[in-house]
Amino acid sequence: MAEHTGRGRTAIVIGGGLAGMLAVAALRGHADTVTVVERDRYPAGPVFRKGVPQARHLHILLTGGQRALDRLLPGTVAALTGAGARSLYLPRDLVTRTPTGWQRRFDERRHPTLSVTRPVLDAVVREQALRAAAPATRVEVLEATEAVGLAGEARRVTGVKVRARTGERAAGPARVLTADLVVDASGRSSRTPRWYVELGREAPREETVDSGLAYATRMYRFPGGEPAIGVNIPGWPACPRGAAYVPVEDGNWLLTLSGVRGHHPPTDEAEFAAFSATVGDPYVHDLLDRAEPVSPVHGFRDTCNRRRHYGRPGAVPEGLLVLGDANCTFNPVYGQGMSVAALGALALRDTLDGAGGPGPGVAARAQRAICRAAEPAWMAAVGADRPYVRDPGATAGPAERLTTWYLDRLSARAAVDRVVGAAFRDVVCLTAPPSRLMSPRVLLRTVALPRRPGPPQPSPTVEGE
Ligand SMILES: Cc1cc2nc3c(=O)[nH]c(=O)nc-3n(C[C@H](O)[C@H](O)[C@H](O)COP(=O)(O)OP(=O)(O)OC[C@H]3O[C@@H](n4cnc5c(N)ncnc54)[C@H](O)[C@@H]3O)c2cc1C
Repeated sequence: MAEHTGRGRTAIVIGGGLAGMLAVAALRGHADTVTVVERDRYPAGPVFRKGVPQARHLHILLTGGQRALDRLLPGTVAALTGAGARSLYLPRDLVTRTPTGWQRRFDERRHPTLSVTRPVLDAVVREQALRAAAPATRVEVLEATEAVGLAGEARRVTGVKVRARTGERAAGPARVLTADLVVDASGRSSRTPRWYVELGREAPREETVDSGLAYATRMYRFPGGEPAIGVNIPGWPACPRGAAYVPVEDGNWLLTLSGVRGHHPPTDEAEFAAFSATVGDPYVHDLLDRAEPVSPVHGFRDTCNRRRHYGRPGAVPEGLLVLGDANCTFNPVYGQGMSVAALGALALRDTLDGAGGPGPGVAARAQRAICRAAEPAWMAAVGADRPYVRDPGATAGPAERLTTWYLDRLSARAAVDRVVGAAFRDVVCLTAPPSRLMSPRVLLRTVALPRRPGPPQPSPTVEGE
């Protein structure tokens, strides 16, 4: 039998993770009742839970995501730093090793990247979202409850089929919760494509670009005093193994090692340290002598760029929206997924504000806005992964060769040049569109100035404004 989730305008959010809580923030005032259906039971404190398996790995929140988060939930970035998140300015406090040397440490202060463990980030955002919702919207969270299907028909979704979970499995009988609007925020394991078929719809078109990257992460402390900077040594085609070492809350540091297919980092503790010596620079391996491990090594393999084309005309039925990783996932090495979830939730809120709330056609309009918000990050991730996924027999066409030549030259220039570096960071931090990389000033400096290598080691000094 169907149960209505409440009186007045009702919404259900599938998944009470990051995108789910941001959906709650976006729906504030546009629904009288929001019911969040979450498969897990939330732990008492900010600790790891099974429903977010990637939470053991390094997560940074880019400037674009921070701005969207603070527009949706004012004060959340300050609450995160209050909970211990580290704010690291690029490239002053978090420095990248490029194929042509280290970035110069300009004191630019445009991009204060947030570095914090996922359990703390999720707990702070959840608290802020649930607190901000009242009194405009009543929010009910059904923990240990799994969405197992959509209710309705091909053209209109009218609710969600749920089952209670006992231990590891959905055990109770299925029941239907009805609502005017359903938001799927169930992450990378979203079953909406399968549920479409059950409703008599075609599954959405899906696009995947998979470099086969794997992660392995371990937490450390530095009893003798922590390093002055965090570092990022991404892999590149000639050395497709990478490392990132950043501080998080409580004086801990996360070291993530990564490698594409054929270069996967090991989860064995001794082999993990040995692998760190094989990335593109000895800096991280040298630091390990001073570091004391405080966790085992955890691995992660599902890192594919995958988007489902829910933004196309007719691709979502009335009453349904898809947000966060359920809509689009990215190779995590570019640090974009959470920011895109926040930008998507902001796009949802702006659409609802503009339309005066949910109504016919509004969900589809919001979905298009959510997909548009993900587009620049998708282009960046897929463009950067292209060398790892091209069929070895295939040759790039002239347009792709020219783009690759320009971006390669630009990223080398960005490491040593303030103007090009600032534009590059604006784009990778999702605060400016990719077209910024083609502005006349950036183009001229990139093409006309000679190639120069970056410093051979991270500079001990910061270069002032
Ligand atoms: C290894 C790794 C590292 C990453 N690093 C970064 C980074 O540095 N920066 C960044 O911005 N992004 C990063 N990401 C991406 C980031 O983790 C995701 O973009 C983000 O978690 C998306 O949030 P979400 O709420 O959509 O999904 P999730 O955070 O995965 O949450 C999904 C929620 O839905 C619940 N759920 C699932 N199915 C059901 C169901 N059927 N019924 C009820 N509940 C359900 C789950 O329990 C969970 O609570 C990384 C990803 C990976 C894999």
